[in-house]
Amino acid sequence: MEDTPETTITTIKVGEGAKGEVIYFPDAEVLTYRKEKGSGTCYYPLTVYCPKCSRTHEYNPKFKEWRPRWLIDKEDYYFNISYAKDLGGEIYPRCNKCGFDLRKDYQYGHQEEVEKVIKEEYHISISSAKYENGFFVLPLESFKKGVREAYSKKANLLISINNSTYKLGWKVYSNPDNIISKDNHIYLRRTLWSQA
Ligand SMILES: [Zn+2]
Repeated sequence: MEDTPETTITTIKVGEGAKGEVIYFPDAEVLTYRKEKGSGTCYYPLTVYCPKCSRTHEYNPKFKEWRPRWLIDKEDYYFNISYAKDLGGEIYPRCNKCGFDLRKDYQYGHQEEVEKVIKEEYHISISSAKYENGFFVLPLESFKKGVREAYSKKANLLISINNSTYKLGWKVYSNPDNIISKDNHIYLRRTLWSQA
């Protein structure tokens, strides 16, 4: 009777390596390559990535459009893609996180994202505002400082009174008819403001 050789069968899945019985995951595939760009380093993809889950574009408030970011980091790409079958039986690449169908073009610049960017970048807060007889009253210096910052960006001015936030649009505060200056304070009618 022959000796049975001691054999162990190790199952290896695609993408795994094996050393004896130990299954190990090889170093992550190289998914990007780097290139110096100006004063920084930009990473470019070598394989498909999810455009929706990756941070490759940003809203440019100046040009009012979505543009590729100047520098993109490795971590900005989301490469976790698998293949799925659609109803017609066709195999297609799909994002494992958000389910985006990579056969489609991704439209950057959804309105709610634009609004979020505008909200974050385009509001200048002015402190020490108070309400008085139908007017919101702001210290002159704070108002001047806020407007200096906000004016060229056409940003809204924001004030907070009793835990409510109110905003004033550029069109309103850039119109001198709306502004009353008195005793080192600026008076703006309550009705000119909207709740933010
Ligand atoms: Zn995704």
